[in-house]
Amino acid sequence: MSSHTEFYPEKIDISNCEKEPIHIIGKSQSHGVILACRLETLEITQCSENTAKVFSMPQDDIFGKPLSVIIGSEQEAKLKTKILKEESLLPEEISIKGRSFLMLPNRLEEELLIDCESLEGVNDPVLFQRQLTRILNNFRSAGSVGDLCREAAKLTKDFFAYHRVMIYQFDKEWNGEVVAEEKEEAAESWLGLRYPASDIPAQSRALFFKNRVRIIANVNDVPVPISPQLSPVTGKPLDLSNSGLRGVSPIHIEYLQNMGVGASITAAIVVKGKLWGLITCHHNSAKFLNYYQRESFRFLAQMFSNEIALRETNSFLEKTAISERIREKLVVQMNSGNRLLNTLTSEVKFTDLVDCGGGALFIDGELLLEGRSPSEAEVMFLIGNFLNSKQEDIYFTSKLSEDFSEAQNYKEAASGILSLRISENNFMIWFRPEVLQTVEWGGNPEKKMSYNEEKQRLSPRKSFEKWSQLLTGTSTDWQDHDLNVVKALQENVRFVILEKQRNKIEELNAELLKANEELELFSYGLSHDLKAPLRGIKGYLQILQEDFGKSLGEGKEYVDTTLDLTQKMNLLIDDILSYSRLNSGEIKKKKFSVNQLVGEILDVFNVKMNYPRTKILVQENMPEAFGDRRMLFQLWANLINNALKYSSGVEEPQIEIGAVRKENKNVYFVKDNGIGIAPEFQEKIFETFSRFAGEKFQGSGIGLAIVKLVTEKHGGKIWVESEPGNGAVFYFQI
Ligand code: ADP
Repeated sequence: MSSHTEFYPEKIDISNCEKEPIHIIGKSQSHGVILACRLETLEITQCSENTAKVFSMPQDDIFGKPLSVIIGSEQEAKLKTKILKEESLLPEEISIKGRSFLMLPNRLEEELLIDCESLEGVNDPVLFQRQLTRILNNFRSAGSVGDLCREAAKLTKDFFAYHRVMIYQFDKEWNGEVVAEEKEEAAESWLGLRYPASDIPAQSRALFFKNRVRIIANVNDVPVPISPQLSPVTGKPLDLSNSGLRGVSPIHIEYLQNMGVGASITAAIVVKGKLWGLITCHHNSAKFLNYYQRESFRFLAQMFSNEIALRETNSFLEKTAISERIREKLVVQMNSGNRLLNTLTSEVKFTDLVDCGGGALFIDGELLLEGRSPSEAEVMFLIGNFLNSKQEDIYFTSKLSEDFSEAQNYKEAASGILSLRISENNFMIWFRPEVLQTVEWGGNPEKKMSYNEEKQRLSPRKSFEKWSQLLTGTSTDWQDHDLNVVKALQENVRFVILEKQRNKIEELNAELLKANEELELFSYGLSHDLKAPLRGIKGYLQILQEDFGKSLGEGKEYVDTTLDLTQKMNLLIDDILSYSRLNSGEIKKKKFSVNQLVGEILDVFNVKMNYPRTKILVQENMPEAFGDRRMLFQLWANLINNALKYSSGVEEPQIEIGAVRKENKNVYFVKDNGIGIAPEFQEKIFETFSRFAGEKFQGSGIGLAIVKLVTEKHGGKIWVESEPGNGAVFYFQI
């Protein structure tokens, strides 16, 4: 036997009843018999100690015997086959010593649990059918949820004749409220009363959820022990979770006795998989409903649950449809206006979206209040010191002051709050005003227990006198459809913000582009204008040099240097000019021969004269190019010029011009065996005015910038492969 086996404790009182393991209470209600058998053999292993009274069979005649001694061999055989075939076990009518019983079998892991209860009295099938028809018709025609509850209470009272029938609805905290009631005229009404969650503890709720209908036939009954206490099959107390005859918790018995209740039956109302409430019936004296009546009751509760679910769904859909229309209008507004703060508060306001008193928008450091809300300072404090620290994007409550005590000061306007973080520091907030509520408790909920002298233990409260409590600092609850629609709006607002940011960036880009164009135009004009005076200077310097050279004496050297410098300046201006021209020029593409183009360039450079030592290899039949010939002329000219220039110092300069196939594309190259380029400069050389070869080589540092610009304009790319001292290969593709 495992050490984890749970036992029903010796002493149960109100202080530990929340943990009471009611499923292993080890007792049966006295109006029936609980039997347990070994599942394989159907040998009887345990039974409640009232077999003599109920079946007229003493326990000794039963223990260790086959189940057939009670139910007969025919029934036993039937049961065995079903167990073998794993078919579901339905209730069976059986006869024991000439009397009618109903056997309700339940399969456990290794055992069969059987409830046997009397079937004496009438079972009128016609009545049963009439009841079902009434249930269906009356529920269908009921309007609101309130009507439905009243109808359910009325039908239950009519069918089963309990003294009091209550529809009991749970709130979020599992407190229950009597939302409909049918009672004997003389009895005091409990309608509207609330009962604290502790009156029906969690494990009872779980069993209601599981079994759906629970009858207590006689509150003043003495429950009958099951013997032996531990199951010979499992070594543990028998699990009675599924038994309708399960003995009642002594605490609950006392609770009912304190209320003056003699018998009860309860059905669970389960809506969308959750315990919504209970239909509870009280009788002043003992009262038993047989299995068929209980099934009727179960059916009623089931239909009632369905109808509630239907109405809740409908109301959800209706409300969602309304707020969706408002949301759509807000989106249109947001898209047509500029400032979010304005577009969310113009004709349609964000506060129209959900039922609320007012709201606040905090966007880009600006706060805007709408409708009824706390003051600006209070809202800022709330955002800064509370909402900002929340992990989740959405926060809502109907009792703000419970989470944030400062809210006590403005509970009239904002007991309820629904807050949405749009982005890092931006919030949308809806406020709900305080709804002062007088809650009528069935007894003081704080005093759920009292000390019982006689029983020497804590007992459930004796007084169920009306006890009023004024609830303050509370708003109505936020509903699922409220949350859904604000979450949808959150997406919309985020989208609009992003869209606006994108537009802004595009605008900036356009401005930048324009500024760039202007600058280019300016530098083109400037270079152009510089050339004329420079020509003048050069002319005069040449006159000085030629006509007055002799009389200048030492000064002639200065004139020579100045002429040299003007030459350099001219070159620089030319390069800048062609760069700007390129930048502003339109691109005109056509197909042309690359070999021809290269030939022209070599002619222009007059290489035979200028670079007599350099060996020049040009691949024949290079693939034709498709592009702007004028621009590509500049590109090739610059690359070839560099190759010639930077290889001119080596012993046997050689340059090679050609094309290769790389990744299915034509890649042209210009290769030299010159000074090469250090890896750290291989990217930088393509920037304007960047030169790394030293003063020995003339240049402006613009050539490769032109080359790069041309490839870019053609949607191509250029790169260099080189080792310092070992020449360079420039590859490009257009
Ligand atoms: P530059 O007028 O100085 O030649 P470029 O823009 O054409 O300006 O080239 C930039 C720099 O790149 C050069 O100053 C030089 O340092 C380097 N460079 C360009 N081509 C070669 C080459 N074929 N071999 C070695 N270095 C080169």
